[in-house]
Amino acid sequence: MSVGERNVDLFVIGAGSGGVRAARIAAGYGASVMIAEEYRVGGTCVIRGCVPKKLLVYASRFPHEFEDAEGFGFTLQAPKFDWPTLIANKDREIARLEQAYLTTLENAGVTLVRSRAVFEDAHILRLVDSGERIRAAHVLIATGASPSLGPAIPGIEHVISSNEVFSLAECPRRVLIQGGSYIAVEFASIFAGLGAHVSLIYRGENILRGFDDDVRQHLRAELEKRGVHVITENTVSAVEPMGRHYSAHLSGAMTVTADQVMFALGRPPNIAGLGLDAVGVAIGRNGGIAVDDYSRTSVPHIYAVGDVTNRINLTPVAIREGHAFADTVFGGKPTVVDHTNVPTAVFSEPEVGVVGLTQAQAQARLSKVDIYKAMFRPMKATLSGRDTAVLLKLVVDAESDRVVGCHFVGEGAGEMIQLVGIAVKMGATKADFDATMAVHPTAAEELVTLRQPSEQFRREAAE
Ligand SMILES: Cc1cc2nc3c(=O)[nH]c(=O)nc-3n(C[C@H](O)[C@H](O)[C@H](O)COP(=O)(O)OP(=O)(O)OC[C@H]3O[C@@H](n4cnc5c(N)ncnc54)[C@H](O)[C@@H]3O)c2cc1C
Repeated sequence: MSVGERNVDLFVIGAGSGGVRAARIAAGYGASVMIAEEYRVGGTCVIRGCVPKKLLVYASRFPHEFEDAEGFGFTLQAPKFDWPTLIANKDREIARLEQAYLTTLENAGVTLVRSRAVFEDAHILRLVDSGERIRAAHVLIATGASPSLGPAIPGIEHVISSNEVFSLAECPRRVLIQGGSYIAVEFASIFAGLGAHVSLIYRGENILRGFDDDVRQHLRAELEKRGVHVITENTVSAVEPMGRHYSAHLSGAMTVTADQVMFALGRPPNIAGLGLDAVGVAIGRNGGIAVDDYSRTSVPHIYAVGDVTNRINLTPVAIREGHAFADTVFGGKPTVVDHTNVPTAVFSEPEVGVVGLTQAQAQARLSKVDIYKAMFRPMKATLSGRDTAVLLKLVVDAESDRVVGCHFVGEGAGEMIQLVGIAVKMGATKADFDATMAVHPTAAEELVTLRQPSEQFRREAAE
């Protein structure tokens, strides 16, 4: 050890979902742990991701509730909305959560350094702020990912990403969002719910690539019913300031006027400038750090978890990977994270909840697939008069009778899919679903009352 060097068993780069969990659990096993954070403790999810987003989602749903209440006999005075109040309250909650993370780390005996950290060599990390060097027996890279604004089109400097959207001074009246991912769709719903005119521009043929095709079509139709202008097979080619607003020029020669232009074009892993080349940490074909089942990189004492590995970029996955890493390396319990059947939600309006295979994936992998589908008007809409429909779809392996996919678009989809996720993970069959008594009256009862397949795929027949 050279003069001024500190020694730790584990150095974690990044105090987000994966890093904090790994640091805490490793310290619990008796390891000396240091964690470096260059921005705010809690990472993307807490500071500028899932949590603040969900708070805005809640806010954006009140106007509909006020409207719907009329059908149930309420007369309300036109409610007033104050964006700065919402943002201030959201910021207060985020600060509270950040403090909770700090306390967790402190109680676990983890040393937090508020600095960017980079590799100097395979065992030495440099704290960029102080220049201090730390020698680590093991290193965990948990640096997450950052929003991309895509190619540098003219006017790109006027475009915001999901990083800035949480602290806008005012709620825009007209918003253009480019992207088709869950983040783009969620913010389209948030701003539309809050009364903005929203244009959602996506280069592909439909939003939510990778989701079941019925879900994609259904959600698009529902967004359009709520006034979101969905423009597909177009990209934004230039953003021109016009006084207090912008003219966005689209590849299809259309022009959209907006007060705010936001791009949500993916989140490349944070690998730049870490010094990974020099230490020999390999990057995978997916652009993230390549790891094995134990999250170990090409360098045996260096591991990586969470979005920086670009496996499944969700908070619970990063947390599980961080925990499994600590169990494996410091707890003597080699643990592999199972990345199959991960339930997930899109907090759009209406919400989407999915687990397991899409119909297309099932048909590509299985020789016999039965599809059970229901589309219906939710009961609440009968009195509110709202033009909306729920979609529920089960994908069943017709050979084993196992439910291999569940797709739901409607109120409470996120809550519902968490529970269905348990059944699917356990390998429940369609017969198990059918044997379960319905909860009436709910939308979810359709899960256990779908009797006839709406479509049957047989590979022999298809070939
Ligand atoms: C708008 C938005 C909404 C989202 N909504 C959801 C959702 O509803 N549900 C869900 O499950 N997921 C959601 N996600 C994804 C979720 O936030 C991420 O999957 C999760 O945060 C990944 O955790 P992580 O530990 O890999 O990285 P992060 O939480 O991003 O943490 C990485 C940390 O590393 C720090 N860092 C980076 N480089 C360095 C360095 N060299 N030195 C020191 N520190 C460094 C960063 O500042 C950051 O704090 C959302 C993301 C966004 C952007």
